[in-house]
Amino acid sequence: MSDSGDTEILISGGGFAGLALGIALASAGYEARVIEAGDTARFRESAFDGRVSAIAPDIRRMLETLGVWQGIAEFQTVGDIVVSGGTVEGGASPFFLHFGENDRGRAAFDMVENRFLRTALLDKAHATPGLTVTPSARVTAAVSARTGVTARLSTDETCRARLLVAAEGRDSPLREAYGIKTSGWSYRQWGIVCTVEHERPHEGVAQEYFLPSGSFAILPMTGNRASLVWAEREDLAPAFLALNDADFDAEIARRFTDFLGRTRVVGDRFGYPLSVQLARTYIAERFALVGDAAHVVHPLAGQGLNLGLRDVAALAEAVADAGRLGLDIGSAAPLDAYQRRRRIDATLMAATTDALNRLFSNDNAPLRAIRETGLGLVNAVPPLRRLLARAAAGDSTDAPRLLQGVAL
Ligand SMILES: Cc1cc2nc3c(=O)[nH]c(=O)nc-3n(C[C@H](O)[C@H](O)[C@H](O)COP(=O)(O)OP(=O)(O)OC[C@H]3O[C@@H](n4cnc5c(N)ncnc54)[C@H](O)[C@@H]3O)c2cc1C
Repeated sequence: MSDSGDTEILISGGGFAGLALGIALASAGYEARVIEAGDTARFRESAFDGRVSAIAPDIRRMLETLGVWQGIAEFQTVGDIVVSGGTVEGGASPFFLHFGENDRGRAAFDMVENRFLRTALLDKAHATPGLTVTPSARVTAAVSARTGVTARLSTDETCRARLLVAAEGRDSPLREAYGIKTSGWSYRQWGIVCTVEHERPHEGVAQEYFLPSGSFAILPMTGNRASLVWAEREDLAPAFLALNDADFDAEIARRFTDFLGRTRVVGDRFGYPLSVQLARTYIAERFALVGDAAHVVHPLAGQGLNLGLRDVAALAEAVADAGRLGLDIGSAAPLDAYQRRRRIDATLMAATTDALNRLFSNDNAPLRAIRETGLGLVNAVPPLRRLLARAAAGDSTDAPRLLQGVAL
């Protein structure tokens, strides 16, 4: 067993949240080390993760401030989101909700392919002094004590730190090792994700239909392309994924209606089981959870990654502010401040997306009437629409500095 010496913050998991946290902390002058189980060379491949993420304006400001956004190869700005109810055969309902650009005088969000965001994060991580990324390795054990954390790595090293952060995604082994329980359930749905090419331009408008078996989102990408996130019953999803290209295209076309002309699926199809999960606490002695390790929400509002990066902004600020005051950065005070700032937000988002999924993902006639009227009412009352749009955009007056575009 070799001794790799000290780092100030050890981060287990080099996904979106782990890499962003490492960059934020190292940019603020801390020494950070990210341990990633996967082979990071594969992160750049589209077959590794075919998803496209909706990046909220506050998260874009943070990524710009950290110098990550500048490395994103391409993105598509979305100016309007049209949400409607409907059925597969009957098409979209006449009641719908617009979250337009004009409501807040700027774009609703940007769509970025996950591979481009991972590549920009990795490149920035490698270029940031004070940050080390170790691929194909794991934290196999960790012990927190009053003076620091001692971790054992699969590389046969021992690493000491003042703070250990788990950014390991929803099945976080460190969360379990620290005895942190979670609450949640499976939606018994899969998210089917694929890219389609279409005939007519999308004009930067995203569409989301709430069909009886789940939400069906059409998210504009660069060119005449869109990413589909299709929530489907878990007993039906594998059969849809196994269809031949022509039959899969036909299923997509039935749900798409013809507003973009003919569509054709390009590239791989992916299936992700959908669940909601909330950690009972985000912190323990010298230990914090960020991203999906802390909370998993239904993807119908495209908010999981955004929530995780808001955790990053809050934790990095709590650490930097504690350090500036001469406090121990792994002590209870900054960790409590982090948890206070983030837990309610993530819990509300989990509850909201859960309620929307329950209300919309069924074919109950009275519920169908309520939801259609509900969308119409929200659309008819501009202040209510703006309130909802602001919540999704992460607009808040006491947001962490990175989310306001201010460096730590
Ligand atoms: C279908 C679908 C569509 C989505 N669309 C959107 C969207 O439009 N917008 C949005 O904001 N969010 C979206 N999300 C949610 C988003 O993808 C997740 O919230 C996000 O990936 C979580 O990032 P993370 O870094 O916390 O975790 P992950 O991306 O899961 O990364 C965790 C990392 O930790 C590593 N790891 C795991 N265990 C260990 C270990 N023991 N040691 C070291 N490393 C380890 C893994 O290899 C991985 O790289 C979507 C989710 C789904 C399923």
